[in-house]
Amino acid sequence: MLQVKNISFKYQKNPILQDISFSVESGEYVSIIGESGSGKSTLLKLLYGELDVNEGQIFWKDTEILGPKHNLVVGYDFMKYVSQEFDLMPFITVAENIGKHLSNFYPEEKQARIKELLEIVELTPFADKKVKLLSGGQKQRVALARALANKPEILLLDEPFSHIDNFKKQNLRRSLFNYLKEKNITCIVASHDKEDILPYSDRMIVLNNHKILANHTPEYLYNNPKTPLIASFFGEFNVIDGNIIYAHQLQIVETSDLKATVKKCYFKGTYYLIEAELKREIVFFENSQYILPNSQVFITILN
Ligand code: ADP
Ligand code: MG
Repeated sequence: MLQVKNISFKYQKNPILQDISFSVESGEYVSIIGESGSGKSTLLKLLYGELDVNEGQIFWKDTEILGPKHNLVVGYDFMKYVSQEFDLMPFITVAENIGKHLSNFYPEEKQARIKELLEIVELTPFADKKVKLLSGGQKQRVALARALANKPEILLLDEPFSHIDNFKKQNLRRSLFNYLKEKNITCIVASHDKEDILPYSDRMIVLNNHKILANHTPEYLYNNPKTPLIASFFGEFNVIDGNIIYAHQLQIVETSDLKATVKKCYFKGTYYLIEAELKREIVFFENSQYILPNSQVFITILN
């Protein structure tokens, strides 16, 4: 189990994280969300021991995670970290990068493991290509495979799919997160993409104002978004009479006492997002068909 106990951290005089505590069970996938600059990457670097906490302690099982002030070499064998920069070696091949930390003592096992990892990140055809020739998304996949190579007990991923295109993302997320569960690898992911999180994450930790604003399952937070910041993570929403109402909870009906004027209509694939004016406020709702701007419609709030 990972235990984070009352940690605080400042860059020079700037407080970034204050009195943060949480724990993560073995095999659990916990996501860290929060606005850009909220300290997600900083938190991962503290968990990895790349930065020193100012206060508090971090433990993985019985080992205290210590930063560079206490350790000559950053990091621990049981933990791997893929940063937003994913430091690869450009002049050797994809397969060599992935196998970099694998033992040469059993060459056949090593090759089999590299093959398995290439399949997980769907880079088999690129095995012999030099990393410097790859796209950003391909490099990110090499970094993921390399982090998995020695089956870490705990994996820290910073925006792991940020460079990967939508064609590949869905499959890759499925194979990665299923693989981690299968192998009982604990995983902590910083992300602002709900697709990385909702279908897979056991818990979400929301960082805001240097603190943990919420720490719950995605389902719970979706159903009980206590602040607009949390609701905004899940999609378009409105605040009506002080309540958070998601766009899909508003629906057009024959008649009601909520009369709105349509302003804009955005194609979203399976639906249109409608921007409308209701009692001089802008509201958003979803509709299966296009609606002409300036149309008058009646809407209702679904429960
Ligand atoms: P996030 O990953 O949530 O976007 P970061 O952890 O990268 O946030 O950054 C948190 C805050 O710390 C930001 O205001 C950022 O500008 C600042 N920061 C990040 N790295 C450094 C650094 N090396 N020195 C000083 N300030 C930093
Ligand atoms: Mg970051």
